[in-house]
Amino acid sequence: MKLCWFNDRRLGLVQDGGIVDITSLFSQLPAAADPFSMSDYLIENLEIIKAGVAQLDAGQSITPLEAVTLLSPVLRPSKIIGAPVNYHDHISEAKNATAVFKQYEGGIEDQGLFLKASSSLVGAGEGIEIHFPNRPTHHEIELAVIIGKPGKNIPREQAFDYVAGYAIALDMTLRGNEDRSFRKSIDTYSVLGPWLTTADEIPTPQALDFSLEVNGELRQRSNSSDMIMKIDQQIAWASTIYTLYPGDVIMTGTSAGVGPVYPGDIIIAKMQHMGEMTVKVR
Ligand code: MN
Repeated sequence: MKLCWFNDRRLGLVQDGGIVDITSLFSQLPAAADPFSMSDYLIENLEIIKAGVAQLDAGQSITPLEAVTLLSPVLRPSKIIGAPVNYHDHISEAKNATAVFKQYEGGIEDQGLFLKASSSLVGAGEGIEIHFPNRPTHHEIELAVIIGKPGKNIPREQAFDYVAGYAIALDMTLRGNEDRSFRKSIDTYSVLGPWLTTADEIPTPQALDFSLEVNGELRQRSNSSDMIMKIDQQIAWASTIYTLYPGDVIMTGTSAGVGPVYPGDIIIAKMQHMGEMTVKVR
């Protein structure tokens, strides 16, 4: 199942190249047990939404994708977790690149995870706004894992039980000497989309082709099998540091080919079994 938020926070079911408005299913959810919960309200009620979708009558009207503005499929993650230097080919690239890549030494286990501000999150239809026009902002396409239930010290062999679904992420990154949390948490610098694809539709998350092009030029192309620290290990490790909550997003690292984008550019990011998203830079 593919679910999206669109327009002025309508809930959509993606099917047949368009969107069925299922906002009424969301409106019928029980009131939140804890109004101050750390969990994203949609993701923690995902099973109820899935059951509701299964009961939908046939022949629902479908709005073409081109006619809607896609928002982030997770609206309120308590945190966005990032994985640095986690693809073999990206490490080679970073080693050969200029000093701005070299401020951190060692692999992912030495550098640790990092956090991006939840307020930096947007959907594909909202676009990226370059904040420092005289400095490079790079695209990083990543497989995003969306956590489905609370977890702490999750055993690696149970990690996938905690996954609600997946999405394509752009971990947009200002290059420079500041801390990662400064450079990667700028408003609109975390893109998630085009929708949430539930975990049952992704049987092999560790073997997904993906690619990113800018203005029609292929920049990044890889497969999630090239990841150094695998998805289940990232979930297990992250959960020893941070309690994971429904809706939390793990951006699992990027492959070689990162490069700058400028206002007016159009990014197209594709991932196997998830589709593609078009993101405008302004
Ligand atoms: Mn990244």
